Amino acid sequence: MEFGEKSAKLVDYLRFQGIGEKVLDAMLRVPRHLFVPPNVREEAYIDTPLPIGYSQTISAPHMVAIMCDLLDLRVGQSVLEVGTGSGYNAAVMAELVGSTGHVYSVERIAPLAEFAKKNLMDVGCANVTVMLEDGSGGDFPHSPYDRICVTCTAPDIPQPLIEQLKPGGLMVIPVGVAFQQLYLVKKDADGTVHKDIKGGVVFVPLIGRYGFSDG
Ligand code: SAM
Repeated sequence: MEFGEKSAKLVDYLRFQGIGEKVLDAMLRVPRHLFVPPNVREEAYIDTPLPIGYSQTISAPHMVAIMCDLLDLRVGQSVLEVGTGSGYNAAVMAELVGSTGHVYSVERIAPLAEFAKKNLMDVGCANVTVMLEDGSGGDFPHSPYDRICVTCTAPDIPQPLIEQLKPGGLMVIPVGVAFQQLYLVKKDADGTVHKDIKGGVVFVPLIGRYGFSDG
């Protein structure tokens, strides 16, 4: 079966899981097989995480879909992603915010940041900037953001990330160790923050100043 056909089957499967059409269309436009190492390319359209080296993974397609759906991404928005990995999730979000929007994605492992940059360039994705640093806190360029997507699990929701969310903004972030839960964080126009749990998840850890320690 061709990659295009496999991608269409995966998207059909995700549609039956309740994922919205906007996100499904974006996923159809991003070739996941070009974001994984050659040894796992044939598995790119199975709904599973896959190894990308350095003990890290590209998230399962349903997880990317759920996070993008919860974020309700709109054309023109600016997005911070913590955990670039392969660059795939950034590319899907970049499709959703369009050419007038931008995704700023932070990765702490240098070879993965380079892997993601190459993958994004190969698919012609021009509205993602990959940055090499600890994304758990800090003050990133172009902050505050309309949306923040954290793709690794944190011990708690880092306060610096809440501060980098615009009023009216949304953040998704997995929290926990043995039992992880996906949080949707909403910041109201007046700055009030609401935290809703959206379900159990499994992610690699957020390592850094406001994350877990390395080793
Ligand atoms: N979004 C990725 C994709 O589409 O391939 C998958 C991300 S993978 C599940 C989690 C990533 O978070 C790993 O690449 C890991 O190195 C990165 N990470 C962990 N702690 C980090 C931190 N403090 N800052 C930036 N990246 C971090």
